[in-house]
Amino acid sequence: MTPAVIIAQRGIERILSGHLWIYRSDVADASEAQPGDVVRLIDRKKHFWGQALYSSKSQIALRLLTRERREFDRAFLAERIAQAAAFRERVAAGAEAYRLVASEGDLLPSLVIDRYGGCLVLQTLSQGMDKLKPTIVEILQEQFSPGSILERNDAAVRPLEGLPVLKGVLAGEPASQVVVEENGVKFCYDLMGGQKTGGFLDQRENRAAARAYARGRMLDGFCYTGGFAVTLARQCESVIAVESSAEALALARRNQDLNHLANIEWREANCFDFLKAADHDGQRFDTVVLDPPPFARQKSNLESALRGYKELNLRALKMLNPGGILITCSCSFHVGEVDFLEAIASTALDAHRTVGVVERRTQSRDHPILLTVPETHYLKCLILRAM
Ligand code: SAH
Repeated sequence: MTPAVIIAQRGIERILSGHLWIYRSDVADASEAQPGDVVRLIDRKKHFWGQALYSSKSQIALRLLTRERREFDRAFLAERIAQAAAFRERVAAGAEAYRLVASEGDLLPSLVIDRYGGCLVLQTLSQGMDKLKPTIVEILQEQFSPGSILERNDAAVRPLEGLPVLKGVLAGEPASQVVVEENGVKFCYDLMGGQKTGGFLDQRENRAAARAYARGRMLDGFCYTGGFAVTLARQCESVIAVESSAEALALARRNQDLNHLANIEWREANCFDFLKAADHDGQRFDTVVLDPPPFARQKSNLESALRGYKELNLRALKMLNPGGILITCSCSFHVGEVDFLEAIASTALDAHRTVGVVERRTQSRDHPILLTVPETHYLKCLILRAM
């Protein structure tokens, strides 16, 4: 029988609030459970509350899988994966690279599966999901017959679960670099060496949206492998794209060539330094994209994160020509949308610019947001007009 974990009142309240995580401090007794088990959640009176993945190490001790009593077996897991895939047929139709399974957003907490053409890239980010890895690989082969399945289990959260840092081929042909089309533009992704699972798929829809406004002289700050720069280049006279990683820029150059573009200048630099120098030189742009890495990985970093966003956006606003477009992003969950809007508003005042909101966007729809799990809404992307 499935082992039981007794949860305290606060754990029950978490479930009732619609969240999927129960913290270690809200577990009353987990002595029956082994690391990574699927467990039954009960209270002290033996009332059943659901089934969850148990972790013996993480602060998130329990990740809710279902409120149902039905055994969480292979068929149940396969059904959840199929449901996630069916949703992608509606929100990522025609896309060759997208997130097939987005963890909590698909009620499969700590499981990420990204599709890059015929290649699936997997992350199992908790003890429980990691234990299910062989079953997940079988299900993926049955449902999608991919050319290859890779794992990018080198994410920083794995050691917090007591799990090893790994990457490699789980099934099929070893495939590292794949070329896929996105929004009519070709991108080469490095699935083994790139950041995350190779690409920032959460910005796919924002790259397409931004293209509608891009023009003139453009700056792509924190360009990675050229996601925004390459997508927007045809709309612009010239693009300067800034990135600190030489490996990312090597691929960015390749992406420029794949799309027969000649108007992008790549700069290996710290974006903060670059913006400061460009501002002092009196440079002007018509379109600026800012897509920095997360500045607040913890709540305690909120203040310093906001200072970072303000500095970047102040420089950008000062350098924008009248009527210029600023596409500015934050992927720090701890910086809420309101915090971000307020930070940009006060920055606009400092820059003596009146700023209009053209679009208030978030992550692409293949990274679903759950209303009762705030952590699933992490990306903010504002498209602004500086008057
Ligand atoms: N816009 C990209 C994704 C950007 S991710 C896309 O659409 O694909 C953020 C990038 O910022 C990463 O590639 C990271 O290497 C880079 N980066 C982090 N700190 C930086 C800094 N201080 N200066 C320049 N680039 C930086």
